[in-house]
Amino acid sequence: KPRVFSGVQPTGNLHLGNYLGAITRFVALQDEHECLYCVVDLHAITVFQDPDELTHNTREVTAAFIAAGIDPTRQIIFNQSQVSGHAELAWILNCVARLGWLNRMTQFKEKAGKDRENASAGLYVYPNLMAADILLYHATHVPVGEDQKQHLELARDIAQKSNNDFAKTIARADYPGGFFPLPEPLIAGPATRVMSFRDGTKKMSKSDPSDLSRINLTDDADAIAKKIKKAKTDPEPLPSEVEGLEARAEADNLIGIYAALQGTQKDVVLRQYGGAPFSKFKEALAELATEKLTPIGDEMRRLLADPVEIDRILADGASRAHAIADPILAKTKDIVGFIRS
Ligand code: ATP
Ligand code: MG
Repeated sequence: KPRVFSGVQPTGNLHLGNYLGAITRFVALQDEHECLYCVVDLHAITVFQDPDELTHNTREVTAAFIAAGIDPTRQIIFNQSQVSGHAELAWILNCVARLGWLNRMTQFKEKAGKDRENASAGLYVYPNLMAADILLYHATHVPVGEDQKQHLELARDIAQKSNNDFAKTIARADYPGGFFPLPEPLIAGPATRVMSFRDGTKKMSKSDPSDLSRINLTDDADAIAKKIKKAKTDPEPLPSEVEGLEARAEADNLIGIYAALQGTQKDVVLRQYGGAPFSKFKEALAELATEKLTPIGDEMRRLLADPVEIDRILADGASRAHAIADPILAKTKDIVGFIRS
C-alpha cells in the first residue's frame, strides 16, 4: 500500500481552505492508502504560540480530522512532538539542505515579512522539518494545498541529496533505489488554493487578522451567510464558461469553492449559474457551505467536550507512528555513521 503523510498546524482558525485543500483530500485517500495525519505542533511554534492556546488548538485540529471523516482506528492521527524522530531527522536534514535552497522559499519571505531579522531560526528551517516529517515514514504521497508545492519540491531535493551524500553506506545497507523515496505531491481538485474573501490575491489563511477573510470550520450558519454575502466580487454576472473566470480572481474563487463543496468541477457549476448575478449565486453558495460545514463544526464541539479521549487518540496514534518511524530513523543513523546501541 502507498503511504500518505500530511500535516496541519495547530495555529487556530481552521478554515475552508484547510478543509478543501487538505482535509477532504485526507478523507478521500484513506481507503486505498496507509495514512498518517499529523497535527504539526513543532511547525506551529516557528511563530510564537500561547502555550494554552497551542494545547487547545492541537485538540481542535484532531477533532476536525475526525469530524471530517478520518477514522483514527484505521489511520494514524497524532501530534508531531510525541514522535521525537521528526526533530532528530530534521537536524540531519538541516545539514543536508543548502542555504541557497532555503533562500528561495516564498513562504518564509511572506511569513517573516519586512522584519526578517526578527523571524525565528525555526521559521527559516521549517521546510527541512517538513521534509523530515515525510521522509521519516518513507511516505510516497503527500496531499497538500497549492501553497505547499514549493516545500514539496524542496523535500524531493533533500531526499535526492541525502541518497547521493550517503550513497556509500546506503549501498551497504542494500537500498538499490535510494534510501529515501522521492515523495509525490497530491495537489488536485477545483480548490487547491482557496483565496481570501477580502482580497482575491491572497490565500485564505489562519493567520489573516480579518475574520471576514475566511470561513472557519466552527462558524455557524449566520456567520457563513454573512461572510459569503460580504465576500469581495466584481459587478459582472457570472460567466457561462471557465475561460470567463480568467482575470476574475474573486469569481473564480467562489466558483471553485462551490464546485469543491459539491464534489464537481467548475464548468458544471457555471452551466448552472452562468449569467446569474452574484447575489443569487452567493445565496446558493451559503446554503451549500452551511449544509456541508455546520455538521462538522457541531461534531468538533462534541468531540472537544472530551479532551481526555482526544489525548488518548493522539497517544495511540503516536505509538503507531513510532512503530513505523523508529526502524527508519535507526537505519538513517547507521547510514550517517552514528554509533547507536
Ligand atoms: P498558517 O497561516 O498558520 O500557515 P494555513 O491556513 O496556511 O495556516 P497550514 O496548517 O499551514 O494552514 O496548512 C495546512 C494545509 O492546508 C496545507 O496542506 C495547506 O497547503 C492547506 N491550505 C492552507 N491554506 C489553504 C488555502 N487557502 N487553500 C487550499 N489549501 C490550503
Ligand atoms: Mg500555512
